[in-house]
Amino acid sequence: MGKVIDGKQVAASVIDAVKTATSALEKETGVKTGLAVVIVGDDPASHTYVNSKSKMAKECGFNSIQHTLPAETTQGELAGLVRSLNEDPSIHGILVQLPLPKDLDADAIIQSIRPEKDVDGLHVVNAGKLATGDLATGLISCTPAGAMLLVRSINGEDLSGLNAVVIGRSNLFGKPMAQLLLHANATVAMAHSRTKDLATVARGADILVAAVGRPEMVKADWIKPGATVIDVGINRIAAPERGEGKSRLVGDVAYAEASDLAAAITPVPGGVGPMTIAMLMANTVVAAHRAAGRQPPTF
Ligand code: NAP
Repeated sequence: MGKVIDGKQVAASVIDAVKTATSALEKETGVKTGLAVVIVGDDPASHTYVNSKSKMAKECGFNSIQHTLPAETTQGELAGLVRSLNEDPSIHGILVQLPLPKDLDADAIIQSIRPEKDVDGLHVVNAGKLATGDLATGLISCTPAGAMLLVRSINGEDLSGLNAVVIGRSNLFGKPMAQLLLHANATVAMAHSRTKDLATVARGADILVAAVGRPEMVKADWIKPGATVIDVGINRIAAPERGEGKSRLVGDVAYAEASDLAAAITPVPGGVGPMTIAMLMANTVVAAHRAAGRQPPTF
């Protein structure tokens, strides 16, 4: 049985460091870190995420602002709100919760956020900085940044000589994750729905990262013995054994069988999931330090 990577514990230590940096910045400069979270529409899952982000921001000692807009909000109204948050010096991070209602152009909104306030790390300027190896001045997408902290907790800072395979090539996760692994000197392959013989590709990985959205797709015989396995998938499946109509969360990895082969593996829930919100807080306090002309903390 491999080591279970405890994302809750790593996330808690990130949050502790965020709290320390937040109060030090306020004490030394009078600047209170500000995070604005914007949600449009009634999607219940998005409301749950946004509420926990706003709550965590308060817990970190931030000035936490939430804008809850109706589903009928127009592109112009939302763009106007982002413009005013861009101009507001008390706000250091702006997060627009995705997905937006289908009539709104989400990409135009995300690209209108000032890169230095783009704490979700989705602006092309931030994606470009990561792609060109500038990890010092941009903001990195929260889930890959968090997953990378988990990899580092097992394999250290320098991944020289290790093969990494990332399954999934989304802009939100797969691409930035591959860039981070590459930056840490891993030899990186990106796999996706067109990859031939995915099991063989995956079996070459010392570090296997799955971000697909298919319940328990990665089986034991996809895993190289001794690998580090990072499961990013969050899939809700029926769990009739828990009672009628009940469900449970599983990852993209068949955890029970994979954990026999992996040296270390993230569970779902409790692995990568808690890291996302922690890294959002980390990005926000970093942005506040930069805005105040201070050296930001590193995570
Ligand atoms: P996405 O945009 O839907 O991307 C999925 C990727 O998986 C695509 O690149 C797709 O390939 C690939 N794929 C689909 N079917 C495949 C198959 N049969 N074999 C190999 N590759 C396949 O998803 P995402 O936003 O990256 O998210 C992926 C998963 O991570 C989801 O379960 C999501 O809920 C989870 N997630 C969790 C967190 C968190 O923990 N906080 C954050 C973000 C995402 P193509 O490009 O060829 O279509």
